[in-house]
Amino acid sequence: MNTLARVVFLLLLAPSSAFAARVERLIDNWQPQHYLVNITLNDQLSEITAASVRINLTIVKATRQIEVEFGELTVDRVILNGSPASYLRRDGKLHVDLPQAVGPGESMVLQVEYHGKPKDGLILTKDKDGNPAAVGDNWPNRVHHWIPVIDHPSAKATVTFNITASANQEVVGNGKLDHVETTASGQRTWTFSEGAPIPPYCMIIAVGQFAKVEPVEGAVTPLSYYVPLSERDLAQKGFSPAGPVVEFFTNTIAPYPYEKLGLIVGATRFGGMENSSAIVFTSNLFNRAAAPSIGMSRRFGVPSNNISLIAHEIAHQWFGDSVTESTWSDLWLSEGFATYFAALFVQRFEGEDAFRVSMNAAALAVLAYEKKKLVPIFDRDTENLMELLNANNYQKGAWVLHMLRSQLGDDAFFRGVKDYYSSHKHSTASSEDLRAALEKASGKDLRTFFARWVYDTGHPQYELAYYWLGSRELRIVLTQRQAGNVFTDPVPVTITTASGKRDIVLKPTGKLFIERVPLRQKPTGVEVDPQNVLLDETTVKGN
Ligand SMILES: [Zn+2]
Repeated sequence: MNTLARVVFLLLLAPSSAFAARVERLIDNWQPQHYLVNITLNDQLSEITAASVRINLTIVKATRQIEVEFGELTVDRVILNGSPASYLRRDGKLHVDLPQAVGPGESMVLQVEYHGKPKDGLILTKDKDGNPAAVGDNWPNRVHHWIPVIDHPSAKATVTFNITASANQEVVGNGKLDHVETTASGQRTWTFSEGAPIPPYCMIIAVGQFAKVEPVEGAVTPLSYYVPLSERDLAQKGFSPAGPVVEFFTNTIAPYPYEKLGLIVGATRFGGMENSSAIVFTSNLFNRAAAPSIGMSRRFGVPSNNISLIAHEIAHQWFGDSVTESTWSDLWLSEGFATYFAALFVQRFEGEDAFRVSMNAAALAVLAYEKKKLVPIFDRDTENLMELLNANNYQKGAWVLHMLRSQLGDDAFFRGVKDYYSSHKHSTASSEDLRAALEKASGKDLRTFFARWVYDTGHPQYELAYYWLGSRELRIVLTQRQAGNVFTDPVPVTITTASGKRDIVLKPTGKLFIERVPLRQKPTGVEVDPQNVLLDETTVKGN
């Protein structure tokens, strides 16, 4: 997701303690395979009048009870394998008793019937025209307020929605629209099926009076825009980067992973939310001013920051949605990839200068963040998941990928990323899985790199001093001033003399590193990291 529009919101959140490792609700004794979600909404879209969710599940570990997370809606009935089941409601969960102990590999069907007005997750609101709307907005673990689930990204499953609403409403959900049927009472039931397992935070519906707009130019996957009726004429241009984005990522990573792509303007607390095949963008998307530093895109005629936002959410379809972080500590595999691949789209379509501007802005965001909080990207402690929407997971994650790309070379980097993607497609991945794929592609040992950049804190603060020792030698002293361990990344340096430029690469082995460079002329300048391939702060002193 993208938090551009929500800085203030994040600042208001209270800090959480960081004393103990966070406990995550991982797959324990059962695993969901498929959710069949039947929801009927009232005409005003202010309430779920009736719902039933059928979970096809597999037992992973011998158990006598199944625990499913569920919010505060009224439960009417719980049915297990076709028979009414006894259950207890406690700590935000339904604890369902099994008639006898069951062992690994057994399949069961758990059905929960309920109704009411969800406290969160399914946002019952009005669109900007004042028309009622019901839009899912689940990140990070708010889907259980309207669908009983294991509310953790690793608990991926396929999903079918049967959504019944009044006949004047349009419905979008994950996956393919199978059919729309008119009920005896004159409502319509919309059936959407997502055939690939998706993380629960990506399971959504959007119901409202949308104008549905198709792009003028064909896209590599079925693409539609759902916008408030008053914005019908803005959709075509406003979403014009989307088709080229899908095509660019298809060529750079792999084919688009889902049946269709819907881009919805509606209710989300984020700038955009990457729900699989049904992305929701903030309702002011088409009214946002261009960020002064990057202005308008000449190619697409929209604010350049909207290109980054649209590309970011679409990149998530591959990274985050299809290849999902296996724990919240691995969130950078979702947000860092989405940030960097959006920047790669900018590099390709908006040019090298725009790419540099975006990577520089990302670096500044990391430096500012690290002044406030010095924790690893791989953060096992932060309790409040909303606090993980930070510069570590987004901008520093993007920089880690940028540094890997420059250190491994484009060929090995993109081969490794494609291999990582195809090995974990429609499944989950860890930071170690990414390391393994990039090591395989490059033949390089990346343990030191990952240990320093992903599992440790901070960035290098280089101080380079150079001394010309008269007609023969330039002595370079590279000191690392950051607290904590040494960074051993190669440091490109350009030495300028009256006869031209010379590029060398320092390979520091300690926080104090000395290199002797044969040099016949006195240097007129020494520049560290001229191509901006390191996330660093540097000062240079010469004699
Ligand atoms: Zn994101």
